[in-house]
Amino acid sequence: MIPLPSPEAPVSDILYVIPCPQCGTRISLLETNLVEIIRNRRVSTTGEPLLTFVCQQCKNCFRWDFRRRKAAGLFPEPPQNTAHPVVFSTVAECENGDCAAQVEVIAIRPPGTTREQIDAERPSWRADDIYCARGDRIICPI
Ligand SMILES: [Zn+2]
Ligand SMILES: [Zn+2]
Repeated sequence: MIPLPSPEAPVSDILYVIPCPQCGTRISLLETNLVEIIRNRRVSTTGEPLLTFVCQQCKNCFRWDFRRRKAAGLFPEPPQNTAHPVVFSTVAECENGDCAAQVEVIAIRPPGTTREQIDAERPSWRADDIYCARGDRIICPI
């Protein structure tokens, strides 16, 4: 679990809205949170500016290219009194036992979500469309 920084947010923060390609449920992410996620990446997928998120609604994993992000709006005030979302990160392994590739899977959940709640939903995560750098399927850790 990666704790996100709170009040040291910049004067204005950019909001990104990332829709799940499967069900359309959107993840709202502030630039501050995104920077922190990228800084704390546990697997460096060389040359791939992709983050793998788990949808809160349908539990489908999908990839998002953060270099192509578009701002959905601006927060003129630092969101000091706004509770930040909780970011859980876990590392999925490749289905092919001979392949050492790993993919970091990131779940962004409402403020206050606990580790236990994440563990409870983990068995329902689906990564059917996620492949490792060599093109093998990955297995979501339970
Ligand atoms: Zn979804
Ligand atoms: Zn592989």
